[in-house]
Formats: sequence, C-alpha cells, structure tokens
Amino acid sequence: MKILVVGGAGYIGSHMIKRFQDTDYEIDILDNLSTGFELNAQNYKLHICDLSDKDHVHQILKENKYEAVMHFASYINVGESYSNPNKYYENNVTNTLNLLDSMVDLKILNFIFSSSAAVYGEPQSIPITEDQMLSPVSPYGNTKAIVEKILKDYDKAHALKYVSLRYFNACGAHTDGSIGERHNPETHLIPLILQVASGRREIFSIYGEDYDTKDGTCIRDYVHVMDLAEAHLLSLEDLIQNQKSDIYNIGNNLGFSVKEIINIAETITHQKIPYEILARRKGDPTQLIADNTKIIEKLNWSANYSDLNTIIMTAWEWEKRLSKSN
Ligand code: UDP
Repeated sequence: MKILVVGGAGYIGSHMIKRFQDTDYEIDILDNLSTGFELNAQNYKLHICDLSDKDHVHQILKENKYEAVMHFASYINVGESYSNPNKYYENNVTNTLNLLDSMVDLKILNFIFSSSAAVYGEPQSIPITEDQMLSPVSPYGNTKAIVEKILKDYDKAHALKYVSLRYFNACGAHTDGSIGERHNPETHLIPLILQVASGRREIFSIYGEDYDTKDGTCIRDYVHVMDLAEAHLLSLEDLIQNQKSDIYNIGNNLGFSVKEIINIAETITHQKIPYEILARRKGDPTQLIADNTKIIEKLNWSANYSDLNTIIMTAWEWEKRLSKSN
C-alpha cells in the first residue's frame, strides 16, 4: 500500500518515515524543504513541492496511486503566529485545503492529520479529554481547530475519512541517534535547555514564574516523538480497516513544570543550566495534560519512550551531535 507523507523531511515526519521502515507500506515524501532537511528523506522518493502549488500537488497525487496521506507540514511557532497570522492561515489552512481538494478529486480518502493540544486553549479541566470544547487562543491553535472543522465537513460531504491527532508536547530524538529535533529558530523547551547544557547558548529563559502551579512555571505533557510515530501508524491501520473518522489526544497523562525539566536535564547532562525569569509568553496556557485513555483503549497505543529520562537522554545525544557539527 502506497502512502504519501507530507512534511516527511521534518522533525516528526522523519520519525514517521523511520517507523515505516519495518512495515510493508511503500512511502513517498512531499516536502518543500522550508524547515525540513533533504537528508531526512534520503532513500525515498522525495517530491519537492509547496502545497500552495495546487497544480503540482494534484499532478503528484494523480501520478501515484496513494491510498492515504499523512500531513505533517505546518508552521508551529505560536509566537510567530501572533505577529504573522497570514503565514499561518495560508500554510496551515489554505494549503491544507489544496491538498484535501486534490485528494477528494482523485478519490484518495484516507487522511491522518497532525493537530495540536493548542486547539483546547486554556483547558476547562485537567486531564483534557477529546470532548472538551475547542477554544484556541493563538492564531496557530486557530489554524489547527479550523482544519479539524474542515475535516468534519469533508467527511460528511465527500466521505473523506480522517484521524486527527492532537499532539501534546512532542520531544526527544530517535533512540538510534540518527534523527532528532532541529528548528531554526528553536523555540521549544527541551532543545533550548540542552543547548545551554552543551554550551551553544549561555542562559535559558523561563517565560513566567507566576503561574498557578506548584513552582510557578507552566506544566506540560511531554510525549516522545517515537511514541507519536507509533500512534500515527496505529491510526492509519485502524482508519484503513474500519473507515471511521476519529480524534485522539497523544500525550503521556503526566505533567512536568519547566523547572522540573531543567532539574532533570541538569542531572542527565551533569551540567548546571543557568536561567533567567522573563515575562509570560503570549498564548501559553498554565497547564496542559492529556487524558490519553481513548487512544490506549481504542488503538491499543502505549507510551514506550515517554518517560522523562528517555526523552531527555535521547534529546541530549542528539544535541551533542548537533553541537559537534556546528
Ligand atoms: N518555555 C520557556 N522558555 C523557553 C521555551 C519554552 O519557559 O525558552 C516554556 C513555555 O512557556 C511552555 C513550556 O516551556 O510552558 C513548553 O514550551 P514549548 O515551546 O516547548 O511548547 P508549547 O507548550 O508551547 O507547545
């Protein structure tokens, strides 16, 4: 069975591609390489294409007999989504529509979508179940919630079947050390902390110490990227077999504060991580923890790599490799 992985050269997409290596699926990658790396796509057929190029997207889908599409290609920087919302609505929404319209036209009706816990905004209760009301606060969160609505409508209108996966905090690197997280600019907590540990950055900035949490810093649910990839594979298999659209949280049902992450990183790296306290970052909810019961019960998913030691150890191995090559 042939699958198109859109955004397969990026952080989560490249771990997905690697997960497919032990399966019978035939994989192509579509990526514009704006934030992804060609190296991540080696050994695969890589279609270098921007989703804004409707005709090109249609041509690629037409020339290949894909049965499903996984869509990882989106902009993810919440702060930037406030200063440049157009970039986010255009790429994350309009370009996704281009992809969906070509799929519907060519009767490729299985779709796995990378959504986000950002669709919940400030949650009504913790842990967050999938049926909580969506009230995103950032333009980034809005784009993910809009696409989820589009998917619901396309299912009704065109029988497009989808699984929408709401990621909590994706992190960690492949256990074989070959791939990991590399954003430019980097905005995510764990890579930034580890850049301080490796000496690539002088100080870490904590965004806000006045949240209503045990130590005043935000709490997040960190899930290893290999567990995320596994969730996609299980979702794909279920979708193909049962032809039923669904939505799942992917998280570990455990919350850690920013300061707790710093402490664990100091233990693992044997480095002191100096930090400063800055003002809160716009759009950061106090606490996000997933209720992951649904994906465990329905898809038999389990978090095998998402204990914080494994997350930080794999991310640290990757950071050491990056800092050496820089
Ligand atoms: N954070 C921080 N300093 C940074 C980056 C992140 O204090 O330089 C905090 C941020 O406020 C949030 C948590 O770390 O509470 C996780 O942020 P990240 O950007 O990694 O993921 P997000 O939760 O925004 O998806």
